[in-house]
Amino acid sequence: DKVLVSGANGYLAMWVVRTFLERDYVVRGTVRNDAKAKFVKAYFSALGYGDRFETVLVGDITKEGAFDDAVKGVDAIAHTASPFHVNSKTPDELFRPAVQGTIGMLTSALKHGSKIKRVVVTSSCAAVQSTASVPTRYSEKDWNTAAIQEVEDQGDGSSGAAMYMASKTLAEQAAWKFVKDHGSEVGWDLAVINPPYVFGPAIHDVSSITTLNTSLQLWIDTITSTTPKSKDELLDSNAWVDVRDVALGHVLALERPEAGGERIIVAAGAYIWQEWLDTAAALPANPLEGRHALYKGDPRLLAGERTYSVTYDVAKEGRILGIKFRTMADTTRDTLEDVARRGW
Ligand code: NDP
Repeated sequence: DKVLVSGANGYLAMWVVRTFLERDYVVRGTVRNDAKAKFVKAYFSALGYGDRFETVLVGDITKEGAFDDAVKGVDAIAHTASPFHVNSKTPDELFRPAVQGTIGMLTSALKHGSKIKRVVVTSSCAAVQSTASVPTRYSEKDWNTAAIQEVEDQGDGSSGAAMYMASKTLAEQAAWKFVKDHGSEVGWDLAVINPPYVFGPAIHDVSSITTLNTSLQLWIDTITSTTPKSKDELLDSNAWVDVRDVALGHVLALERPEAGGERIIVAAGAYIWQEWLDTAAALPANPLEGRHALYKGDPRLLAGERTYSVTYDVAKEGRILGIKFRTMADTTRDTLEDVARRGW
């Protein structure tokens, strides 16, 4: 089968493409320009997949009909392209690519995707969790309407995080609405993957340890921090998943019939930042020895009961996908060894 993966050069998408290729799919990846196409082609050719991987340039995904040619002849789509950063000055800067990009992809699939059976859209736990003041366990029934409310109330004055979370919520809602409105006209159904923070090794084009994608940058910056963090920062908590496991989640969501019509939270578990620091400190040796010290934080903070602010009910994931998630120790070791290998 042939799968279209949008934003193929991204942190997550590179692993999505790789996982499809490892499972014998033919993959077409969309990228914005020639330089990016060249990088991804060289990467997958070096792995021996040159004959089953091709790229197509789409330019900016907010352009009308951006994906019209890209969807022709494919059997399925994984739409991952969407901006993830929290430095936006205006909500529109994120909303347009997130929402228009998603609707544009689905519209192209409606018009030109006669062979398509399944579309998987990468949403986020940002579209699920709201900023509750007490520890909360969320499930697929929950929607982050709080971020949308903040942006409605405060406009350009909203936090960058709220703008990002609202962009993901609106994009996912738009996708479900599209299927509700056009479901009877298409031969495909929709599955949505909602990951929390994604960490783990990077195989995309990265020039240095300070120019990573948002989630991995946060992880590396914390693990190698050279300035002490406050107690609140060290005890800050959320949920996470390894990038390779979310990639597999996309493949399985495309393969499993029961995933159709479902949003699925794909999370390995909850973390407290101090736990990541302890996990790195417990490695037999620092893979970054001589380049970056591992920040120790304050392990005493974890004595007594631990409070995880955000946890997820992953029963649906277990039932439909059943991924065996990597542990914090696996992800920490693999990521640091990879940073060492790349000489950052
Ligand atoms: P990256 O920044 O590495 O990848 C984002 C991808 O989207 C890139 O290929 C980027 O292309 C493309 N893109 C963004 N805006 C546009 C645009 N206007 N036109 C064309 N392409 C565009 O981020 P991630 O890999 O982390 O994110 C991938 C997906 O996963 C996103 O949908 C994100 O919301 C979601 N996600 C990520 C999480 C995480 O913790 N990383 C958690 C939950 C969900 P280019 O490189 O050319 O800019």
